[in-house]
Amino acid sequence: MRFKALEIAQSRLPKHVAGDGNTVQQIFAANVFNDDAMQKYLDKASYKAIKSAIEDGTKIDREVASQIAAGMKAWAMERGVTHYTHWFQPLTGTTAEKHDSFFEPQNGRAVAKFSGDSLVQQEPDASSLPSGGLRNTFEARGYTAWDPSSPAFIYENTSGKTLCIPTVFVSYNGQALDYKAPLLKSLTALDKAATAVCKYFFTDVKKVKGSLGIEQEYFLVDKALYNARPDLIQCGRTLFGYAAAKNQQMEDHYFGSIPDRVYNYMYDFEIEALKLGIPLRTRHNEVAPGQYECAPQFEEINLAVDHNQLLMDLMDEVADRHGFKVLLHEKPFAGINGSGKHNNWSMITDTGVNLLGPGNDPESNLSFLTFFINTIKAVHDNADLIRASIATASNDHRLGANEAPPAIISIFVGSTLFNLMQNLLDGVKSNQGKWDKTINIPQIPEILVDNTDRNRTSPFAFTGNKFELRAVGSLQNSSSPMTVLNAAMANQLLSFKSEVDALIKAKSHKKKDAILQVLTGYLRDSKRILFEGNGYSDEWVEEAAKRGLSNIKDTPSSLVAYISKHTMDMMSRLDILSNEELHARYHIQLEDYIKKIQIEGRLIDDMVYTSILPVAIQYQHALADTIASMNAAGLGKKETAAHLDIMKELSGHISGLKSSTDKMVEERKKANTIDDVVKRAQAYCFKVKDQFEDIRGHADKLERMVDDKLWSLPKYRELLHIK
Ligand code: ADP
Ligand code: MG
Repeated sequence: MRFKALEIAQSRLPKHVAGDGNTVQQIFAANVFNDDAMQKYLDKASYKAIKSAIEDGTKIDREVASQIAAGMKAWAMERGVTHYTHWFQPLTGTTAEKHDSFFEPQNGRAVAKFSGDSLVQQEPDASSLPSGGLRNTFEARGYTAWDPSSPAFIYENTSGKTLCIPTVFVSYNGQALDYKAPLLKSLTALDKAATAVCKYFFTDVKKVKGSLGIEQEYFLVDKALYNARPDLIQCGRTLFGYAAAKNQQMEDHYFGSIPDRVYNYMYDFEIEALKLGIPLRTRHNEVAPGQYECAPQFEEINLAVDHNQLLMDLMDEVADRHGFKVLLHEKPFAGINGSGKHNNWSMITDTGVNLLGPGNDPESNLSFLTFFINTIKAVHDNADLIRASIATASNDHRLGANEAPPAIISIFVGSTLFNLMQNLLDGVKSNQGKWDKTINIPQIPEILVDNTDRNRTSPFAFTGNKFELRAVGSLQNSSSPMTVLNAAMANQLLSFKSEVDALIKAKSHKKKDAILQVLTGYLRDSKRILFEGNGYSDEWVEEAAKRGLSNIKDTPSSLVAYISKHTMDMMSRLDILSNEELHARYHIQLEDYIKKIQIEGRLIDDMVYTSILPVAIQYQHALADTIASMNAAGLGKKETAAHLDIMKELSGHISGLKSSTDKMVEERKKANTIDDVVKRAQAYCFKVKDQFEDIRGHADKLERMVDDKLWSLPKYRELLHIK
């Protein structure tokens, strides 16, 4: 399989980097124990063993692991590394690490050591990380175990360098406590199922890998202003804030020229990313002021996810050097666009065929149709689970709220393919379903027919040679939705294969007819999920309801899909997650939801009473003083009318703010007494969070009325426009 990371990275690197001896070849993946490094630092047998572990998932024995550890240590120490860590992705959503020094004292001297055992497995304890009850029983240990398919890398901080070894994190019983373990299993399941189906079309395919390119949206704010906003610091989003007069209505930010200060930041983190082998390609301004996006060249899914997690850490760290804070929250500011992560997903064979890449004539391109329609069916049958996989307290602000993609999972395929699907159902062969001749260029089949045929309002859109899941949260670990999508697809392909085989075996159908018949049946079953119109519109909400599609707006309601019979059967059948693991995940996500809303509720209370009310009352006091002195000076009702008007409105909002806040606090207290985690999450969702808007309404009105000099919180108009 070819991932053209290096060439592309090279062509993108600004000239002056290549200028002073730092060629891109030297920079790209310089901090990665990649193939080149392995060839240089490992003996032949170890190199072979690790390659086969990477390619075929074979086990590495302890003896060989020791050799690999020695090579890795030599490579790392030559680069000034002093510590190593198992790097993993617990269910908190961030990455975790616990550093150990290479050095051990021996006879009064420091000796560098790194054994095979230290490479392969560690017991970081890490008992405070969420386990959903999986570790509460007799054996509380958690283990990290090396994932050789994602290369070790050196993470540089200003004061040191650490060798990071990507690992899975599992309990003593082998139950997954992280995102990576089920992701890897889902990739194995997908590989098996897809490879088997490939045999209908290409006899030489031995392996299918999932491919993923993650577009990452983010906001930048000035660090000093950020530090003056407790809500940004503690919740990652503003809980208050009156809309700036100028926000995104002029549409002048999207793809606009990048401000110098931002450009310098991007440049800096891109270099750091390239060193870690993250093939960043694209950068641009996004729709909202202060919003940006970056995207790497796609990679194998496991690696793409690791790279995205790493990238988020890097972005945060490098922002600090530039006096910025990067906001990855899905909705840092009300009233303007939020941020997502677009997961571009496909499957590629070891012979280099992109299984979602249509050929020049998709009508005859049966393999394309097979994978394309099976994806539609897989998403249709697992829409609720996909919705659950992107459900978080923060993503709720985007999904199904004021902004799209909506919480309704639908699929956009573009008019050409839509017509083709329709023709398949009608049994008609029409010219409309054919590709435009002008794009029949065999060398670049991936430049699709109609590049403008895009639909930004669809949560799951076909974009020429891949599907793009656009509903993933910007802050999220992409593993959850990818595990679900891979699983859904693997499960679907297994069913497809057995149905087609049954028809062929019964001798009633030739292979091609059998395939087409099964595919047409799938289309009939799942056609209702295809939607080409405006996903943001109210009409779609109505239409989707008529079609019987789910529209699950909040996290607690959507998470139950994790423990539905359908999900449990599928995940066990594919050996990806056991029922126990699914229940654990369900609980962890609910707890996470509760805590996030709880923290927001507490901070709202705190900010209302210690920042907003005091300032409003101070202004009220000044107004009252003015009115009193005006009256004393003999001015009457006519002259003080405006002042009294302001006073009345101000007082109304002050009491409204107090009473709505108190009500929310009461609801929070009640919610906290609920033992049942499902009911508590619902209480937080429908009783506590429900008050937030009311509170904010009053607070934002006060912000608009009170003397600017008194207002202590930086305003949207200051936060959003970077100079
Ligand atoms: P857009 O027009 O949406 O920006 P791009 O072609 O730039 O589309 O792709 C966006 C992302 O999709 C990039 O990360 C790109 O590498 C990735 N991508 C392209 N082809 C594939 C594929 N076959 N599988 C997975 N991701 C892909
Ligand atoms: Mg895109």
